[in-house]
Amino acid sequence: MDLRITEIFLSIQGESSHAGRPCSFVRLTGCPMRCVWCDSEYTFYGGKKTQFAEIFAKLGQFGCKLVEVTGGEPLAQKNVFPFITGLCDREYEVLLISPVHGLSNLAEIAEAVSQCGLPLRLNLQMHKYIWGADARGV
Ligand code: SF4
Repeated sequence: MDLRITEIFLSIQGESSHAGRPCSFVRLTGCPMRCVWCDSEYTFYGGKKTQFAEIFAKLGQFGCKLVEVTGGEPLAQKNVFPFITGLCDREYEVLLISPVHGLSNLAEIAEAVSQCGLPLRLNLQMHKYIWGADARGV
């Protein structure tokens, strides 16, 4: 199985309660939305079809057990689900950043998160509403 990947890299997590921890990032290519505030247009096209084995090998080289799967909209590629399962099977701690702008009903997501019993957190980022669509660095 494969995923279309924009980039894989090791850095420091800058968001959430995991901020400051070393973190591997797997940035998937593509997003069906075109939000006016988007600062990730470079993820819309291109990328490279990459076999799971190649992704796991690269993550293994980093030696970091925290992995963020992001995009674009990572959930737009159906293979992301078995990929995340594969990460969990390899005992990675997985963070999923899914914009879900307009893709899902937030009330339904919140209900699902509260019901599933998994240590999930629904984090709403409202900064584009507060500072405006063109703001950068907020
Ligand atoms: S969902 Fe995210 S990546 Fe997609 S267009 Fe909107 S801001 Fe950009």
